[in-house]
Amino acid sequence: MVPNTGSYRLANARVHASLTPGFTTAFDSDGFALADIAVADGRISSINAHGRTAVPVDAIDLGGRIILPCFVDCHTHIDKGHIWPRKPNPDGTFMGALNATGADRAARWNAEDVARRMDFSLRSAYAHGTRALRTHLDSVAPQEEISWPVFETMRETWRGRIELQGACLIGIEGVRDKKWFDRLAKRVAAAKGVLGVVTYMVPDLEELLDHVFAQAIKHGLDLDFHADETDDIAAISLKKIAEAALWNGFEGNILVGHCCSLARQPDLDVLDTLDKVAKAGLAVVSLPMCNLYLQDRRGDHTTPRWRGVTLLHEMKTRGIPVAVASDNTRDPFYAYGDLDMLEVYRMATRILHFDHPVADWPQAVTATPAKVMRLDGFGTLATGGDADFIVFKGRSWTELLSRPESDRIVVRGGRAIDRQLPDYAELDELMVE
Ligand SMILES: [Zn+2]
Repeated sequence: MVPNTGSYRLANARVHASLTPGFTTAFDSDGFALADIAVADGRISSINAHGRTAVPVDAIDLGGRIILPCFVDCHTHIDKGHIWPRKPNPDGTFMGALNATGADRAARWNAEDVARRMDFSLRSAYAHGTRALRTHLDSVAPQEEISWPVFETMRETWRGRIELQGACLIGIEGVRDKKWFDRLAKRVAAAKGVLGVVTYMVPDLEELLDHVFAQAIKHGLDLDFHADETDDIAAISLKKIAEAALWNGFEGNILVGHCCSLARQPDLDVLDTLDKVAKAGLAVVSLPMCNLYLQDRRGDHTTPRWRGVTLLHEMKTRGIPVAVASDNTRDPFYAYGDLDMLEVYRMATRILHFDHPVADWPQAVTATPAKVMRLDGFGTLATGGDADFIVFKGRSWTELLSRPESDRIVVRGGRAIDRQLPDYAELDELMVE
């Protein structure tokens, strides 16, 4: 359907108001408008309202199919991905995930193992239409010395297909060993990465956060936190991070993931936290599929009664940038997943009510994470921008989000890519006990 010439015209494409900066026309109540898009030399050379200019006879009529810019996945763990067959989560709990992953990492994560699973994950993400991806890298000693060089090689190999960002991942208690942590921060800076930490409500949390911010300032690093991935209402590290950002005068980007406990806290506490998060300029990413899987799992034949996600609507109303992302794939933190951001958006729509109206929620998987990751021109369709987009079968939100859209066309640099997904059997030899 999309010619392999790199130069052509698409007629009757359905584009979304929130993802087409600079394109002004009358959008319908779902945010859609029909457009004619010219592609030349791998870039979008014009976007016009459908029928405003004469459509050449050789234009490809999309019949009102939806076109979205390629996805940006700002929170993943491709170093952990696909270990499930050899290391399942015994009970589906967060602690079960932590212990199983820790044991697998210590026993199995040599450079080849990490590289092959990472590459498998990236091929899936690419086939589904992802253009940029941030992964956390477990950086507990000695893993940082194994995974970071693998990541740097992978980033070069994938440049031009998927823009890769790495964030280190250690529990906040690891910051107590300042000499080691400062060395890690230096290593992350050398790799042009992001400084990442998992916060817990340890007694010295504020002091440790100050040290994390000091290192980020020293090396000019952005920050990325896993915070409050629990139903415990006493978990208020999101607020502590916001406070630390304010009193340290931090000017870089900060992305905070999860923030599950916020949804369980009393309204007044929530308002106070959100005020601080907005003032500190934090961005928040929710991981709806992982949260649904791990949160409110009580065992003993009980049914979960809580979706696990944080307060994205309240945050967005206050101007806090909000995103959703994949998180884990086929590892003890989430038994499923394939880095398909359409699946993430579909699930987010259902779990988090990204509908009625849809408004600008599509930015949560495109333009907003692109901004957080400092990727100019990613996550939008614009004249002069790269022709990196996905052509779906769906012509409306209900059509788009009702089927898996396995037959979507992913266009990169103006050309349709091969969307073959890697075969699970490729990893079989890594899964032998
Ligand atoms: Zn995560």
